[in-house]
Amino acid sequence: MKEISVTEQIAKRGYISEIKPYVPSNDLIFTTAHIRNLDVNRQINRINRMHIEDALADTKSFFDVFYQVHDVPYLKYIINNRFLKLANRQNVNPFSLPVIPKTVSDETFYGSLITELSNNQIPQVAFLGIELNSLVTEVTSCSYAHEITHAEVDSVNGAITSYYNSEVLSVFIELQIAELLAKAEKILRTEDSRRIYEIEVLARELKDYHQKRLVKSEDDALIDSKYVVSDVRAYNLFAEYYYGSNSTKEYIKSRIQSIFDGNYTVEELLNEFMDINRLDDLNPTLSLSPKAIKYFHR
Ligand SMILES: [Zn+2]
Repeated sequence: MKEISVTEQIAKRGYISEIKPYVPSNDLIFTTAHIRNLDVNRQINRINRMHIEDALADTKSFFDVFYQVHDVPYLKYIINNRFLKLANRQNVNPFSLPVIPKTVSDETFYGSLITELSNNQIPQVAFLGIELNSLVTEVTSCSYAHEITHAEVDSVNGAITSYYNSEVLSVFIELQIAELLAKAEKILRTEDSRRIYEIEVLARELKDYHQKRLVKSEDDALIDSKYVVSDVRAYNLFAEYYYGSNSTKEYIKSRIQSIFDGNYTVEELLNEFMDINRLDDLNPTLSLSPKAIKYFHR
């Protein structure tokens, strides 16, 4: 994404714009710190390398069984330099978006959907491709599923009301595929450890930011808020799915399909399973549900 401010992004993506860096509760920090230190979550799973074609194919097969995807706006630059920009826009299947392996020293980089937000095009959102960490492992299929989900949801106007919730479905689907990928939930547990660590670290940083013990830009604090809020809500929803009956699982799946189809919103889905305090979105009360806490102790 080009460097534009989070507030500008929020406006262009059509989310409600009143948003402030989230103030995490001490309870959330203590709970996630406790979970992270459980033996089951400290265990290191051996994650194998994979060929990229196989990793991408696993994601495609998952979507073929679980969801019907719609085409998404793809922007291809024919000329892109300081003097001239010429681009071709067309709608393509999200699996046709170019996948770009990215070599990074940052091991916390998994993937990103390269997005352009235009001023004068409808839709305002278009995608240039999907970057994935060039170190391809068994977890790559989850990261790819995460970005494909972004492409699906981000290209439907109004599918997400609040910026805070813009990672919920991507994280949820990442967990959904992770559960299926390997025996003994090896990949799912790897995802769990990573995300619980992410919630704890970012929640601590946000606390320090508000207490002026840590300097970070408001934009970075908003991005951190998005991950903390979305991760917690994604896990609260995933715990419902994980422990749910077959009909609950089918129901959640069909609701997600409706969101992809533009007939339902992420907030409506969340509201069915938890109190998301939509009206009080500036400072949502946020905690892991009893079911999510049970899930992390499994
Ligand atoms: Zn994401």
